[in-house]
Amino acid sequence: MLREIKLAALDLLRSAGAFGLIANSQWRRERLLILCYHGISLEDEHQWRPGLYMQAALLEQRLETLRAMHCSVLPLGEALTRLRSRDLPSRSVAITFDDGTHDFYKQAYPLLKKHNYPVTVYQTTYYTDHEIPIFNLTCSYMLWKRRGVRFSGAKELGLSEPLDLTTELGRHRIVRTLIERSERENLTGLQKNEIARRLADGLGIDYTAFTGKRLLQLMNAQEVAEVARNGVDVQLHSHRHRTPEDESLFRREITENRERIRALTGREASHFCYPSGVYRPEFFGWLKKDDVISATTCDAGLAGCDDNPFSLPRFVDTTGRSQTEFESWLSGVGSLVAVRKAASQTYIVPED
Ligand SMILES: [Zn+2]
Repeated sequence: MLREIKLAALDLLRSAGAFGLIANSQWRRERLLILCYHGISLEDEHQWRPGLYMQAALLEQRLETLRAMHCSVLPLGEALTRLRSRDLPSRSVAITFDDGTHDFYKQAYPLLKKHNYPVTVYQTTYYTDHEIPIFNLTCSYMLWKRRGVRFSGAKELGLSEPLDLTTELGRHRIVRTLIERSERENLTGLQKNEIARRLADGLGIDYTAFTGKRLLQLMNAQEVAEVARNGVDVQLHSHRHRTPEDESLFRREITENRERIRALTGREASHFCYPSGVYRPEFFGWLKKDDVISATTCDAGLAGCDDNPFSLPRFVDTTGRSQTEFESWLSGVGSLVAVRKAASQTYIVPED
């Protein structure tokens, strides 16, 4: 209900000319909109997680809107420098993609190239060395694919029956159990991949065929190197997509991630994005010690010149955002009327 009122209000503001007014204001000129994307579907991933995936056609529509609204799309590093020195062009925007997925390479990268837009990819690197799907997402996706069927072989995986595959919450509980087990037993990525394979067998899914499609996988080493050679700005997102609360473990994530990126791209990464948008104030000092110069969150907002460089807000664009909503954020109105700005601080949230 609240959302419907908000969307109706945005439509009214747009027809009253407020979008243009704010877009041309000094207030907007002193701010940078950092767009955040995750996956672009290879198949039906946007139906499974509309908050994480969108179709390529929708991304293309967004890129056309940037052009139609005369936005200045800048490389992230340049945009942040110019933000600090109050030297931004009008309606400035930076485009970022989290994780560095194979679908970025396959779907988003050709579109960005076609439109000639600079892009930053926050690359998590553990899986770039192992061409296997991301464990927790894969379990969740396969259970969703089989949401109407009976699941056999649960006991072997340490799951207690009855299992409910029909709701998001039921499937989430199963994924949670599998994750907790793999953490308890300190399993490697390859060992977790074997659990995913057994889950696939129990669900009647051909796991070899599934992995062959590269769904829910990151870019491999060659793909990261190729996009970097062609101008994609590859930056930090932690090696294992985690931010430990212990300083030395946290900084090890940054160091390993940076070393891997250096080996793949030949460049030094110095911008960071918090995995899953989860951050704590003590991280700021740790990042600084490691010569990181900026860090982005999933909190909603436009970045201002006096904002803390280690907690920069972004606009997380998803399948669920309407065209009016997207335009409201480009103009700046979206930020002014946003109801909830802070992102959830839990790693995995079921959708019902
Ligand atoms: Zn991420």
